[in-house]
Amino acid sequence: MELNESVKGLSGIGEKIFQTLQKIEISTLKDLVYHLPRAYKDFSHIKKIGEARFGETAFFEGKIVSQPTVKRPKRNLEITSFQIADGTGIAAVDIFNQFYIKNNLATGNTLYIYGRLEHRFGKVRIAVPELYFKKPEEAFQPVYPLTAGLTQNMMRKFIREALRVMEPVELYSSSFLRRYKLPGIKAALKEVHFPESAAHIEKARERIVFDELLIFNRMLTLLGDESRAQSCARINECSVQEFERSLPFELTNAQRRVMKEIMDDIEGDTVMNRLVQGDVGSGKTVIAFFAMYCMRKNGYQSVLMAPTEILARQHYETAVKLFPENEVICLTGAPNAKKKDEMRQKISDGSAMIIIGTHALLYGELSLKRPGLVITDEQHRFGVKQRAALLGGRDIHTLIMSATPIPRTLSLVLFGHTDISIVDELPPGRKEIKTYLIHRDKYDAMVGFIRRELSAGRQCYFVCPLIEEGEGMEAKAAKQMLEEIRKFYPGSKAALIHGKLKNAEKQEIMDDFSKGKIQILVSTTVIEVGINVPNATAMVIMNAERFGLAQLHQLRGRVGRGGFQSYCFLVSDHQEAYERLRVLVRSSDGFEIAEKDMQLRGCGDIIGTRQHGVSTLKAANLITDVELLTETKEILANMEKVYPKEYQMITEQAKRQLAGKLLEIALN
Ligand code: ADP
Ligand code: MG
Repeated sequence: MELNESVKGLSGIGEKIFQTLQKIEISTLKDLVYHLPRAYKDFSHIKKIGEARFGETAFFEGKIVSQPTVKRPKRNLEITSFQIADGTGIAAVDIFNQFYIKNNLATGNTLYIYGRLEHRFGKVRIAVPELYFKKPEEAFQPVYPLTAGLTQNMMRKFIREALRVMEPVELYSSSFLRRYKLPGIKAALKEVHFPESAAHIEKARERIVFDELLIFNRMLTLLGDESRAQSCARINECSVQEFERSLPFELTNAQRRVMKEIMDDIEGDTVMNRLVQGDVGSGKTVIAFFAMYCMRKNGYQSVLMAPTEILARQHYETAVKLFPENEVICLTGAPNAKKKDEMRQKISDGSAMIIIGTHALLYGELSLKRPGLVITDEQHRFGVKQRAALLGGRDIHTLIMSATPIPRTLSLVLFGHTDISIVDELPPGRKEIKTYLIHRDKYDAMVGFIRRELSAGRQCYFVCPLIEEGEGMEAKAAKQMLEEIRKFYPGSKAALIHGKLKNAEKQEIMDDFSKGKIQILVSTTVIEVGINVPNATAMVIMNAERFGLAQLHQLRGRVGRGGFQSYCFLVSDHQEAYERLRVLVRSSDGFEIAEKDMQLRGCGDIIGTRQHGVSTLKAANLITDVELLTETKEILANMEKVYPKEYQMITEQAKRQLAGKLLEIALN
């Protein structure tokens, strides 16, 4: 059978299943064999409870240490609960309605459990557990993305059958395959679905990812050719110096540099497509306003899209200080429909020059008289779609502001035809946060140090990974922490904030903390972005080894916001985590930290494992496959000469994909 034939020809696929498969975009044999496992259950390695990270899915082996108990909270729901132990820790397990399994559980039995280690409601548990009484035979089992009506077993069967009856198309000559050490496509497809070992999975995946990224890079070059041919708002006579005079502070060199880069873009005759990256607090907002200032001066309107209403509001307040108030519009601020219509009127007749709103509000709803620029602030998805909708196809300059630490090496490749500016300097007066690793031996000294900070009138944060002490876990619990803190610092007021509190309660505690009525805030990780208490100078993070570096960096960013020297204490007794944690001691550069995190941990946690919305990429992961991304980009650069046949094939594939998915490709 041919790759492009319908899967209906396969045994076991009738009309109903065919329709179900279409829901996950499988209609041809090609779609089916390229429907790759999103993961593999790794039965080849047994993980210890005490060594797994929270959130990690793994294969555990343990003995049942508590007599299973049964609860029936609803008529059709029966929950059987027990605990297993493996010498390094204890974990609770709940199973739902699996009657035959329940009857085989007894204290002392050995069990294998595939599931995700979590801490919830104060306990360590294995969530979504799959129980095995014997160790499974295969070392790896594929896990496919599914939809209702399909099972893993069905997918395995269909794919096995498809691979048997059809012949995949090899894009490359054997000399090309040898040159780049790639397995043939047929072998690769077989191994990716039915692997013999982890090494086989890796090789097979690499081949498939290689193809995807080569085509992807070709798509980017095709697109780049197009965007260069366009026309858009032409700007002249803008000056950074003049703009700076309207500001209450002096710009940093980094800010000036980025503004010049923006000016060069918009004064030329190409469309600006620029990503501005800078750590939280590096002063990106003023850069955005400079770009809007240039537009306004030349009679063009600008749109600023913020991720939340609070941020939109904040931008609005800054904007009215820099621009005539009647030219600034904040769409989220409209109290009623009439007012909103008025705003729309001002946007379409061109009297509003600076338009601010949330992504949701702006999406596809506006008609601008003379649009020049769209700025997306703190958006993780880069809004090609919004941009297109907003403009109805017109060309427009775009600026994306992001504090998400996308590692430099990655963004340079990923945003091949997007230019990047990096704000690598903080406004003056901010002192570097001194960061220390605290082992048990130093704990008392740290407690004493913080006492001195408190008596000098400062405030501090204690962050713990858990709410209550989990059985068998060493993690410091926030509640217990609070008790301890009250004993340590009887003269100070301490309060606990955690995710289970109501919003109003959280808000009240936060307000009290920011007014200084509370000196010590003990919390789980709910102290998110946006909390700004300049008087807080110490951040203590318990069990720091449990957090990712990028997350620790974000937490640390809560202090050092005023003129006082600030401190961050990473408390951990896990020597094996020290190498990783030392990155934070040495560096305060969010990008460097993200890059190190990626190297040390593999990937994943930085922007999420699957890249947002890159639907042309099924197998490739733009974070972890960054090397292949670079490699294929380089290969492509010389391919037309050296491998003209292959180049032709890749170009055809790229064009075909572009035609269908123009708006959804990587920059979305
Ligand atoms: P972010 O890059 O996180 O968006 P902001 O633009 O919100 O940062 O800036 C953080 C704070 O720093 C704001 O209060 C802003 O007014 C201030 N700021 C920005 N640039 C400077 C500067 N050059 N000098 C002093 N303060 C500045
Ligand atoms: Mg910002």
